[in-house]
Amino acid sequence: MLTVEEARAEILARVRPLETECVDLLGALGRVLAEPVVSTREIPPWSNSAMDGYAVRAEDARARGSRLRVVGRIAAGSLPRRSLAAGEAMRIFTGAPLPEGADAVVPQEEVEVEGNGILIRNTVEIGAFVRPRGEDVRAGETVVERGAVIGPAEVGLLATLGRAQLRVYRRPRVAILSTGDELADLGSEPAPGQIPNSNTYSLMGQVVEAGGEPINLGVARDQLESIEERLRWSLGADVLISSAGVSVGEHDLVKEALTRAGAELHLWQVSMRPGKPITFGSLLGRPVFGLPGNPVSAMVTFELFVRPALRAMAGHRTLDRLRVRARAIEPIPNPGSRRGYLRVMLVSEAGGYGARLTGNQGSSILRSMAQADGLAVVPGDTVVRVGSDVEVIVLRGLEQRSL
Ligand code: AMP
Ligand code: MG
Repeated sequence: MLTVEEARAEILARVRPLETECVDLLGALGRVLAEPVVSTREIPPWSNSAMDGYAVRAEDARARGSRLRVVGRIAAGSLPRRSLAAGEAMRIFTGAPLPEGADAVVPQEEVEVEGNGILIRNTVEIGAFVRPRGEDVRAGETVVERGAVIGPAEVGLLATLGRAQLRVYRRPRVAILSTGDELADLGSEPAPGQIPNSNTYSLMGQVVEAGGEPINLGVARDQLESIEERLRWSLGADVLISSAGVSVGEHDLVKEALTRAGAELHLWQVSMRPGKPITFGSLLGRPVFGLPGNPVSAMVTFELFVRPALRAMAGHRTLDRLRVRARAIEPIPNPGSRRGYLRVMLVSEAGGYGARLTGNQGSSILRSMAQADGLAVVPGDTVVRVGSDVEVIVLRGLEQRSL
């Protein structure tokens, strides 16, 4: 049986970043930049005022109680009409360009207005309340590196640089196939003996969350022809994920259908719970995952194996979720020899996190997955005692939980 790390390494050794494409600035959000962005601009483009006040020459206010003549007014969006001479000040507003000759701004609350002049009560430092040209970005500087993930601040920065379009890695298109004679798809009422298809939808959600584009191939019957037909529909995708039908039962035909379609496959037993049987291989050069059928097993194996692969294809360098150490609030048992990935809720505690199980850990119990903030990683045949630390893979920010 492989360890999770061995299976993951085998998978990641076989995936590469996809091609790149040009997208609109906001379309790059969450995606990975495929070329460095070098600024052609100085930001700010000219030295400007950080306050509403008066532009001055600091040397004119060397002594307390200096009086200066106000000789002009510069609002944001306008230019100073002339430069500033000794003994002069100009009214200036936040963001307005500093006039030539000025080297400081005195906030308006620190002066007294006297007719056409101002009285400055205190001395003034050179550079006070001035935002110097190029303080944020110099022309020629690399501002966002290749490989950076574009967040809202990068979007703003790139807008500042005038970049309406960016080159990023393409999102993987991921075809999702559910298999099983017992499955009734969304929109039809399950007949006696049928259960609703949930895997297609949880997996599509996970694909979207991982930055991919899901393609729903629907439900195949437990017949080779039915599976093969839908496999042909997957040809436009970059990745194929199937769920169920990968064990060794006589209705488990996914492996055979994939092989007949030309896939090279490895069937692995991975030492984990939930999970265990998974197929991985390639079909016409594209990665193929055969995940287990139980709803939580499908989701957890997606987390551990498919998500990092999709992120690598989308150009990400950080492939894994954040892991934190949490203190067990109640005993967290993992009976059995396989490593456990147990659904836990996290609570903020002084100095860190506490973790408690979300309930029934059966591999078909989706409700305890819905409540999980993370997966506690527990070695086989181990009970994590109250107060002991456990490692938790964080699945979502605590602000995203349902209750
Ligand atoms: P299998 O690997 O085909 O034996 O499936 C294992 C378990 O997962 C069975 O109880 C199936 O009914 C269930 N299952 C398989 N596919 C799905 C699905 N798409 N949605 C919900 N449950 C499923
Ligand atoms: Mg089945």
